[in-house]
Amino acid sequence: MSEKVERIKCLIIGSGPAGYTAAIYAARADMKPVIYTGLEPGGQLTTTTEVDNFPGYPEGIDGPSMMIQLQQQAERFGTEVRMGMITSIELSDEVGGIHKAVVDNTTNIEAETVIISTGATAKYLGLPSEQRLRGGGVSACAVCDGFFFKGQDVAIVGGGDTAAEESTYLANICNKVTLLVRKGEMRASKAMQHRVNNTPNLEVRYYTEVDEVLGDQVVEGLRLVNNQTGEKEEIKITGLFIAIGHKPNTDIFKGQLEMDETGYIITKGKSTKTNKPGVFASGDVQDKEYRQAITAAGTGCMAALDAERYLAAVESKEEVEA
Ligand code: NDP
Repeated sequence: MSEKVERIKCLIIGSGPAGYTAAIYAARADMKPVIYTGLEPGGQLTTTTEVDNFPGYPEGIDGPSMMIQLQQQAERFGTEVRMGMITSIELSDEVGGIHKAVVDNTTNIEAETVIISTGATAKYLGLPSEQRLRGGGVSACAVCDGFFFKGQDVAIVGGGDTAAEESTYLANICNKVTLLVRKGEMRASKAMQHRVNNTPNLEVRYYTEVDEVLGDQVVEGLRLVNNQTGEKEEIKITGLFIAIGHKPNTDIFKGQLEMDETGYIITKGKSTKTNKPGVFASGDVQDKEYRQAITAAGTGCMAALDAERYLAAVESKEEVEA
């Protein structure tokens, strides 16, 4: 391991809309932020095509271009954007304490504040045909991509609140929606199930799994399997949405930060404060409900403001509010 230790005011981990928005605000507040992009620079939006629901882009923008623009905006105010993964971290318990991170298992870095915006990763079924057709009609975000299937027949996999919400969202846009639930019941709340059951162009199939996604370049159909009888059947659809949950990228913080039972970081009240002083969380890593680029950006802004206030209080030796 290298001996050189760099000390910075503000370390931002993760480069999605939350991380870059935090960087824009932190840089403008003269905190000289350093952002480590992680393995997927730009985050989840780089895996989507058109982003049509981010305010300020009347014609829409493709996800990768939007992330390049956010990066450029953050750099314009002096953010240092570095490729690299934070592979381990030791967060201080002390107000004004120094947090110690290791980049790519080799470089030590010390930070007065840390903004975590490592996001969450959508889970997929893991079928080779599904992976091959990602971007060709297979999506993990109905709100992002549903519009492209206007008037068409689509299917969605999952039985939780996300699948329930997204299937009714899709039913408003598409001709017909088939919801595929692997058990004999849904896990979604009763209210959400009620909404699903009262949507006329939405059919729920229980005990049903995807055996294969059919299509060469784009999705043309599904081969389904009934997991009770083993019976197989093909249906024609043009879009397949996967809504089987997300995994927050919080492994390196386990045992240090308070998280819920599924690994999302818990923030205090309306703020982005975590249980460690000077450590803030923004974006999907602390939000399993809204998960939109615009909401992630909003909490990124909040995290930078919270970090700035924290530093000001530490520097003036005021009592730091827990
Ligand atoms: P959940 O983990 O709650 O549900 C995942 C669903 O996907 C389950 O029905 C599960 O089936 C199914 N599933 C998992 N793996 C597979 C697979 N390989 N094949 C087929 N089906 C599979 O995730 P959600 O994203 O729905 O919700 C996450 C959290 O966010 C929850 O706490 C939820 O309440 C909350 N949320 C709240 C909303 C709201 O209040 N408006 C909106 C969206 C989410 P099984 O049941 O068989 O395990």
